Amino acid sequence: MVSLDYASGRTAQTIVDNHNVASKVQTPGLTLKSCLDFSYTAPMSPFTSILRRYPASLPWMLPIVLVLLFVAVLLWLPWQAQKMEANERQEQLIADTLWVEQSLLFQLKRNEENLFSLAHEVLQKKETQTERDNLQARSKLLLSNSHEILSLQIWNAQQQLILSQSDTDTQSEITKDLQQGTQVAELIHDGNRINVAQCVKQSGAQDTILCRFPILQEKTSLGAFTVRYRLQTLLDEAVPWWFAQDNEISLQDSDEQTLAKRSAGGPGKHIYTHNRQIELPQLNLTLHTDSTKSAPKLLSNLLVVSVVLLSAGLLWSLIALWRDINRRLRAEGALRKEVAFRAAMENSLITGLRARDMEGRLTYINPSFCAMVGYPPEDIIGRLPPMPYWAPEAIAEYEQRFAQILTGTVQPEGFETIYQRANGERFPVLIYESPLVDEHGTQTGWMSSILDISELKRAQERSRQQEEKLHANARLATMGEMASMLAHELNQPLAAISSYTTGAINLLNEDPKDAALLPAVLDKVRQQAQRAGQVIRSVHEFVKKREVERAPLNIATLIHNIAPLIELQAQHAQVHVHYQVEPQLPEVLADKVLLEQVLLNLTRNAIDAMQDIAAECKQLQIHAHLSFTRTDQILIQIIDHGAGISDDIAAELFSPFFSTKPEGMGMGLNICRTAIEFHGGSLQHRANPEGGTIFEFSLPIQ
Ligand code: ADP
Repeated sequence: MVSLDYASGRTAQTIVDNHNVASKVQTPGLTLKSCLDFSYTAPMSPFTSILRRYPASLPWMLPIVLVLLFVAVLLWLPWQAQKMEANERQEQLIADTLWVEQSLLFQLKRNEENLFSLAHEVLQKKETQTERDNLQARSKLLLSNSHEILSLQIWNAQQQLILSQSDTDTQSEITKDLQQGTQVAELIHDGNRINVAQCVKQSGAQDTILCRFPILQEKTSLGAFTVRYRLQTLLDEAVPWWFAQDNEISLQDSDEQTLAKRSAGGPGKHIYTHNRQIELPQLNLTLHTDSTKSAPKLLSNLLVVSVVLLSAGLLWSLIALWRDINRRLRAEGALRKEVAFRAAMENSLITGLRARDMEGRLTYINPSFCAMVGYPPEDIIGRLPPMPYWAPEAIAEYEQRFAQILTGTVQPEGFETIYQRANGERFPVLIYESPLVDEHGTQTGWMSSILDISELKRAQERSRQQEEKLHANARLATMGEMASMLAHELNQPLAAISSYTTGAINLLNEDPKDAALLPAVLDKVRQQAQRAGQVIRSVHEFVKKREVERAPLNIATLIHNIAPLIELQAQHAQVHVHYQVEPQLPEVLADKVLLEQVLLNLTRNAIDAMQDIAAECKQLQIHAHLSFTRTDQILIQIIDHGAGISDDIAAELFSPFFSTKPEGMGMGLNICRTAIEFHGGSLQHRANPEGGTIFEFSLPIQ
């Protein structure tokens, strides 16, 4: 199992659990890295573990229930508001109807009192005509002030009509009233009903009621009076206009027959209605009110519209939120997968990874880096330079590089340096740096990949040693070839020495006077001996196995030193050598012996190539001058006039052991190229326009 520390985002830990150990045992040879490949388990975030413990839909239940409750309450509220409004209207109607009833009764009562007082006076003060006229005028005024009263009559105890007043001119009405009055007179004499007032409904052109009231004084009947009310006028007078505007008001009899009606605001809607009994003496009238208002509409209600809009908005936002959360969850899942994949990849890398912030503080390292330097992550993460894995002797270099990095300068091709393990062991590393950029495009630090190149270096050393061996072998082979030429060449100075010494002895023996010639002869001997010694020294240097040593070197001197050996070969093949070396050439940093070997190889090949051509063409040219294309390089050319190199041979030219010569080793050019490249130069060949081949190599100036 691999557990990753997501909290810090920096460290990773690898644990092999029992299962994997078992699987490792069953499959011998399986490495930990391959275990990682198939046994990796993604880490569980707290959120994920909650989701796994409960059904996926559960976290959604509570908000959904709450939202449904909210919507239900929102829908219930307007309904309740409508109901309350209806109740309020009904209650208002009842209160107004009560008020109207009181107003009607008050009007009737006031009329009754006024009439009673008038009747009382009429019955008591009837002596003079003036008084009678006054009372008549008062009764008229009363009638004109109270429009609802159609007529009134006053009777005395003797059933005589004392006063009659009416605003109707029709005789029939008066007669009717008088008849009623007769009944009143009867009423006065009726001892049982003497105190009882009566109201009677009368239907006609206009519905009216006739009320009869006894006039009593200390239980003695003085008479009675009758009054006739026009019901329509009563309604018109007693009901205020604002009430009539909103309601249809009617007075009905006990059979629900409408006697009078007032409806200023139009007919009632039969939605809000109320009935009040108006109890008159021996007559029951009903005050019926019917509101012109219609029932409150549910949907026109602003509240309802707001509720519907709010609910729709809420639902929409919930759905949007749900989608957004789903999208985020999916993205989080993908991200987690990606992080796990990358973490597993980083853990399985053999390349060390290291992240640093802009101050150089270590913010992340992978297990491979920890293994490389031998420090646990907790010991180095968060540290600022100098780092514990810096080798003390290279601290100046690290600091210089670090300063460069802080200025933003990186070497894209990487650089080599040395690190120190926790146990003090030094090891070479190759480091590549690249900037760490966050999601806003701002650089937050540096990411480095570090390669432990100890093994590579060891392999390079082995290869170098093998090459050295090959060089040595090649030198030996060349020596073998040269041995016979050497023998021949050394023969010449030795034979000359021998002849000179014999001549000298002869001179001394034959004529001592000629002894003066001896120094010249001996000088010749010395010269020949020096030449032989130089040849032998060159060969010795050439064959000697040695370490490569680079030192400042003058090319002209090098060519001068090697010239005897070149000429030795050239003379043997009757080749004439021409030198064209630019004076004052700058020095190069090179290994003298390697370059001599290169020159010897190339010149020997050139001499070999001119073996079968006409003697006058056997010209070997050795040129050395500054490169025309690159002034920081010296170009050395070996030019022959031989057979040239065909394309087939050119393709194989630098391959090891490729040779067209019966006794050739085929290593010469290969070694030459390696040696030149080792010095940072390059070896090439091209056809000589005058026939033959030009081999040339460049060397960088020191
Ligand atoms: P060797 O000299 O032992 O054959 P080299 O690697 O020096 O090995 O040369 C390989 C081959 O390249 C030679 O056998 C020869 O055929 C060809 N070669 C080298 N130099 C020349 C030259 N100057 N002209 C023509 N052929 C050449």
